[in-house]
Amino acid sequence: MSRIAFIGLGNMGAPMAANLLQHGHTLQVFDLSTDAIATAVAAGATATGSAAAAVVGAEIVISMLPASRHVEQLYLGEEGLLPRIADGALVIDCSTIAPDSARRVAAAADARGLAMIDAPVSGGTAGAAAGTLTFIVGGADDALERARPVLAAMGRNIFHMGQAGAGQVAKLCNNMALGVIMAATAEAIALGVAQGLDAGALSRMMAVSTGRSWATEVCNPWPGVLENAPAARGYQGGFGNDLMLKDLGLAAEAAVAAGTPVPLGELARNLYAMNSQLGNGGLDFSSVVKLVSKHA
Ligand code: NAD
Repeated sequence: MSRIAFIGLGNMGAPMAANLLQHGHTLQVFDLSTDAIATAVAAGATATGSAAAAVVGAEIVISMLPASRHVEQLYLGEEGLLPRIADGALVIDCSTIAPDSARRVAAAADARGLAMIDAPVSGGTAGAAAGTLTFIVGGADDALERARPVLAAMGRNIFHMGQAGAGQVAKLCNNMALGVIMAATAEAIALGVAQGLDAGALSRMMAVSTGRSWATEVCNPWPGVLENAPAARGYQGGFGNDLMLKDLGLAAEAAVAAGTPVPLGELARNLYAMNSQLGNGGLDFSSVVKLVSKHA
């Protein structure tokens, strides 16, 4: 069992930390929100007053923060954690951030003599709570081997995509495809309904035909087609429109950096930005269907 510092106890971090505690690890936690810390303490963690205090004596440091700037601020700079983390400790950043940002922090960790992996996740808050997340990893083989028992306490699948930043690249590629497919599926079902079809019948046909996808079968954007999908509960819960917007922005930045075209990814990014402007940023991203139908 490891002594772990866990920083960032939000929608994802809190249940991930709870699963580590259930597997017998010792957790020293920090979040800017005192409520978030209190929840983790109730689950068995030890509260600390700062990120710097959380990493004292920790063998493993895990961060789960919103975006690149939070991660860079946490580890780099004058007040950054890297000089404070114990020699020989392993750093695991599970946040979804820009690949270049992940590479910058990993290079600084390496210069300090610390092993670090980027391990963004797929599976959402339900996967975090159930301990069934998929970890998409970038970093050295030996660092991943050290991380494996800890990741296994929070997830079911681990994919090693390459060196530092590769986990972030792979995560962005997956989410760019998802964002495009969801928008396309929403448009197709809205067309069918406008032509008089039943959305459920159309979706059931598509689910066994060439238009099938996670968007038709699991997170169908049309209300009432799937009773467990966010669309059935006013698009509450699920994966937020603005988180998809963030990931598509990161994909666009990565595409610019690589000089590669992502025309559909860019179009999808604009669709989710428009949905956000309509006030739907906090709804599940399948609410993008509202752009193409007033009946959704
Ligand atoms: P969240 O906003 O719920 O949680 C982030 C937490 O970080 C908050 O509690 C906040 O107070 C804390 N925080 C911010 N800056 C901090 C700092 N400097 N020190 C300590 N704590 C700090 O976000 P989330 O939904 O838990 O997502 C976290 C990451 O996981 C994001 O990068 C997101 O893109 C990714 N992700 C989210 C989902 C999802 O479904 N929510 C799914 C996959 C990946």
